[in-house]
Amino acid sequence: MTATDNVHPHEIHKFGSQAERWWDPNGEFKTLHDVNPLRLHFIRQFAELQGKRVVDIGCGGGILTEGLAKAGAEALGIDLSEELIDIADLHGLETGISAHYQKISAETLAEQQAAAFDHVTCMEMLEHVPDPASIIRACATLVKPGGMVFFSTLNRVPKAYLLAILAAEHLLKMVPKGTHDYKTFIKPSELCQSARNAGLELKGMTGIEYNPFNKQFSLGRDIDVNYIAAFERPA
Ligand code: SAH
Repeated sequence: MTATDNVHPHEIHKFGSQAERWWDPNGEFKTLHDVNPLRLHFIRQFAELQGKRVVDIGCGGGILTEGLAKAGAEALGIDLSEELIDIADLHGLETGISAHYQKISAETLAEQQAAAFDHVTCMEMLEHVPDPASIIRACATLVKPGGMVFFSTLNRVPKAYLLAILAAEHLLKMVPKGTHDYKTFIKPSELCQSARNAGLELKGMTGIEYNPFNKQFSLGRDIDVNYIAAFERPA
């Protein structure tokens, strides 16, 4: 597989075709908006962001990228969807938050800018690519020794099928139908193994839990559905 092959074009199309609704806080991507403060809170437990160069892999319309920039990082978001890069740029112009965006793959950026970033984030993206281990290796290449790499994804256990697909897509309609495919979910052990193979050390992992009664997300011990993990590239 070459650097540019690690992509499912239908995934890029699926997300790109919804680009103009990305920033609607009550729209299809409400879940990403809702979990964003939690992701930033988790990231800041492990990484200083002020003045740091951070790259956000598979940034979509830039929800996390803008959050990183707001927290003082010099943030770059990359994605393979032209529409989403345009929406991210446009939103930055509207809000005046100065993040940068580029349509490029993680693997190609890693060839060009090895060890150029203080930290790397890659959220809700690994489950949408043919070869997640290749993205994980690219993230490990992009980060400087001593820097942190953050991933979030969905766990491949039946409970995640029930909650992330059956409940979230079909019953509660929190996420557009067809967003996720259970087969592509990644067990924490698999994420950790790929990260270890890429030279990264696990520093922390926590669940992103949803309470259907008060409709709130929170960080917690349950990593059976959605989870977020912090890895360090040892100095
Ligand atoms: N990380 C963002 C968006 C998650 S949605 C957030 O959590 O807020 C998944 C994103 O991954 C989409 O924007 C999609 O275009 C992108 N994506 C899928 N495959 C990709 C690939 N191979 N390279 C880069 N981005 C990809």
